[in-house]
Amino acid sequence: MNFDFSQFGCNVFSDTVMRDKLPKSTYKELKKSIESSQPLTADVAEIVAEAMKDWAVEKGATHFTHWFQPMTNITAGKLDSFISPTPDGKIILEFSGKELTKGEPDASSFPNGGLRNTFEARGYTMWDCTSPAFIKDHTLYIPTAFCSYTGEALDAKTPLLRSMEVISNEAMRLLRAFGNTTSKRVIVTVGAEQEYFLIDRELYEKRLDLKICGRTLLGAKPPKGQEMEDHYFGRIRIRIADYMRQLDEELWKLGVTAKTKHNEVAPAQHELAPVFDSVNIACDHNQLTMELMRTIAKKNGLACLLHEKPFAHINGSGKHNNWSLCTDDGINLFEPGKNPYENIQFLTFLCAVITAVDEYSDLLRLSAAIAGNDYRLGANEAPPAIISIFLGEQLTSVLHHIAEGEKPQNQMESAFLQMGVETLPKLKKDDSDRNRTSPFAFTGNKFEFRMVGSSASIACANYILNTIVADVLSRFTDRLTNSKDFDGEIRRIIRDTMQQHGRIIFNGNNYTQEWVEEARRRGLPNLSNTVDAAAAYLEPKNISVLGRNHVLSEVECQSRYEILLENYSHIIMIEANTLLEMVKKLVIPASVEYIGSISDSYLKLKETGIQNHSIYGLLQNLSSLLDGIVDTTNRLEELVSSAPAESSLETAEYYRDQVLPKMEQTRTLVDRMEVVTDKKKWPMPSYTDLLHRV
Ligand code: ADP
Ligand code: MG
Repeated sequence: MNFDFSQFGCNVFSDTVMRDKLPKSTYKELKKSIESSQPLTADVAEIVAEAMKDWAVEKGATHFTHWFQPMTNITAGKLDSFISPTPDGKIILEFSGKELTKGEPDASSFPNGGLRNTFEARGYTMWDCTSPAFIKDHTLYIPTAFCSYTGEALDAKTPLLRSMEVISNEAMRLLRAFGNTTSKRVIVTVGAEQEYFLIDRELYEKRLDLKICGRTLLGAKPPKGQEMEDHYFGRIRIRIADYMRQLDEELWKLGVTAKTKHNEVAPAQHELAPVFDSVNIACDHNQLTMELMRTIAKKNGLACLLHEKPFAHINGSGKHNNWSLCTDDGINLFEPGKNPYENIQFLTFLCAVITAVDEYSDLLRLSAAIAGNDYRLGANEAPPAIISIFLGEQLTSVLHHIAEGEKPQNQMESAFLQMGVETLPKLKKDDSDRNRTSPFAFTGNKFEFRMVGSSASIACANYILNTIVADVLSRFTDRLTNSKDFDGEIRRIIRDTMQQHGRIIFNGNNYTQEWVEEARRRGLPNLSNTVDAAAAYLEPKNISVLGRNHVLSEVECQSRYEILLENYSHIIMIEANTLLEMVKKLVIPASVEYIGSISDSYLKLKETGIQNHSIYGLLQNLSSLLDGIVDTTNRLEELVSSAPAESSLETAEYYRDQVLPKMEQTRTLVDRMEVVTDKKKWPMPSYTDLLHRV
């Protein structure tokens, strides 16, 4: 059946629906609230709630939920039905303004990094009217922000909303300094490309590691991985195409602008990208996309893997966070201008990003830190763990040109600036788009941050980015408004940026060892794992920038630090326990049985008088491998059971330095065993089964 495009957004309480269902004055009030982030009055909330309920019930909804994003990288919410009993034993359907705007879930049951004790457990969810409500599974979803009783953010969204306001204000201040009198606010636009794997559900069900951890903890290298480069953009198999179609259609009904889909580099790997939107909505839509990817896979006998590294030996998955700034009247601030004046504005915004990314590269690296991403960053596939910016040769040389051209006389300076920017050629998008190895690439009119993990919320990457750029914008505006020589000051800003932060620009191949060494010479941090990256939350300069922009307080930074480390330790502990269970209950028994059957064959042959050396050799090999497996497994078990618990840092370091290497060692031995064991005897699907049998 063909998709009826009039169904796009049919499950969204969209602007059109609001205009249709709300009295004109209420609609106006709500609109004002959405645009200026002002709270609604109780009366208006009451009318909106009533209209929302009627609309939702008409569309089959029986429940509503305050949908929020605790620091678990996924979403949460409890469902309440609309029913309310009447004295005559019947019911009416009710939904009040208060229920729409505020909920009170128990905050202590979500990660809070010590912010909440169970005895003061109350938390609040507050309606975020900037992201539209929608209906899914007979439930009205109300996007909300989640914070503690005392107002600390307990979610991914609150700091994101705070950062959107900060960057809008600061970007507007700079635009005003440039003489813009028409724009009213600046919107952060984001398009998140989402990578994922799809495998057969039946095979997935046979792998405890995939079910529990989302990644394979064992599995020998398959004969065919991604060497042939035949999967990227290749023909999409019928079963997968059918899945993608269902996914698109369900997303469209929810107003998610799913746009492109294709096969990715690794076998069984795919990607979906939406058309960009305001960052808040992009973040909600990415959550919905991940959720639907999983549920639709299940309905189709498939399993969707969103882990950053589900399989060793082949590429992992990420999320490319395309980020830009756009005024409410449609000016993309990272679009190089058509004339010199527009160009200097563009270059000033560009310099703010360069400065921010260099000064806070540790924070940006932190924003992509979760255990699963450690296997990806640094391997020869995804961006390395070192943050740098790709600008392209052309743009880099323009900046150098302007920066180095300083002359002592003021008129000359100004003249040079004019000349410098006038010679700025019209940038061709293709030129700047070619580098695929950079973690942070300027791609013509936006930046592409490629480090974010495929399973992670994009909120953190964006609130960090918004905050650090806003902070530098503020500094630039102060300089410009305090200076009597506007053009000269801009050139000094460009010069200072290049002198002090030019080291962050790198246009070469980020996958090479030479870059790692070069980056070290430049003094750029190389934070290869989550535990090292987490420390950025405690750096005074980072606490300060997040604090003075009111995005995260010191206490909130500390709690996020704790949550990140606890989460890291929990993940590895669960992985280690899963590995132990698989090895003890599956691998060792299967190996013993196989060795027994070989040994039987050997003895039978021997009875007939033939002494076969190769069977004997095989037996020796198998049995020494088995010894090794039993040994490392025992050692791993001891390590896990004696993990320290005094401080979250000590625990996380222990899991990283003691437990993970032992897990790797166990895996190496088991994978060697898999290669020499009869396929029919191996107790779980192989990599070839998983990757090539959809
Ligand atoms: P790629 O070459 O990396 O596949 P595309 O140019 O197709 O990239 O765009 C990738 C994503 O970037 C899409 O989600 C797209 O909507 C988004 N995008 C395009 N322009 C902007 C912008 N101005 N701001 C934010 N995202 C954008
Ligand atoms: Mg991309």
